[in-house]
Amino acid sequence: MGCLEGKTALVTGGSRGIGAAVVRTLAAQGARVVFSFRGAQDAADALVAEIAVAGVSAVAVRADVSDSAAIASLFAACDAAFGPAPNLDILVNNAGIGSDGQDASLRSGSEELFERMMAVNAKGPYLVTQAALPRLRDGGRVVNIGSISGKVSQPFAAGYAMSKRALQSLTFSTATEAGRRGITCNLIAPGAVATDFIAAVRARPGFDEGTARATPMGRMGQPDDIAGAVLMLCREEARWVTGNIIEASGGVAL
Ligand code: NDP
Repeated sequence: MGCLEGKTALVTGGSRGIGAAVVRTLAAQGARVVFSFRGAQDAADALVAEIAVAGVSAVAVRADVSDSAAIASLFAACDAAFGPAPNLDILVNNAGIGSDGQDASLRSGSEELFERMMAVNAKGPYLVTQAALPRLRDGGRVVNIGSISGKVSQPFAAGYAMSKRALQSLTFSTATEAGRRGITCNLIAPGAVATDFIAAVRARPGFDEGTARATPMGRMGQPDDIAGAVLMLCREEARWVTGNIIEASGGVAL
């Protein structure tokens, strides 16, 4: 029997990459999962089918986290799947975007890209958390997926770093506001993880090798590495751990 048997979870951006690994990991521990995605219906459907084979139910909902109407429909789907509130044990704010190869520098990055990153990476988790709090059961968990970029300055990524810094503030505010209910909130800050998210930089010759060399643990992160850290925070044993920035980076920022 898994450690999340009888629990429910909402994961944003669960169709691919880190989010999909989180969905698989929570479901493997027995949690029922609703996850959102933005556009890739095929990937979402494939993940639901994969999890069903293991005998656990998952529901995929197309919902852009920067759109409050879409968030309302995401939570309507949660209520339909999990029953009347309070009905949620775990929220993972994972959906996020980077510059995807566009110019994101302070010098010449576009206002449009800046606003999009702030909308998806900061406003989205704010709105999702606001809607989730009344649904979270006492003793629940909120895990935000930030970035090492929120801590370490990286060139040409000012808007992304600012959006992930905002997520750190949301983490502290959520931990403070929800603490009396036994709800914890922590942020996991990954270093580079091999997903589509960093496909543009990985296309540069030597990027993977350079990242491995710069990482004390000698390799690039994999989605499962981050999902394992999420699971650690969702376990009952982590009930007193709140308001932290936890790096899951193989030590790259040391
Ligand atoms: P991917 O690009 O591989 O996957 C992103 C996921 O988020 C997809 O499921 C995508 O849905 C969904 N998504 C994107 N935008 C939205 C939106 N507006 N509304 C709802 N869902 C959305 O990214 P990763 O898995 O690599 O990244 C996940 C998180 O980890 C992000 O917050 C990112 O900032 C963070 N991170 C990633 C690092 C890395 O190196 N990969 C490093 C540090 C942090 P769809 O498939 O429909 O597009």
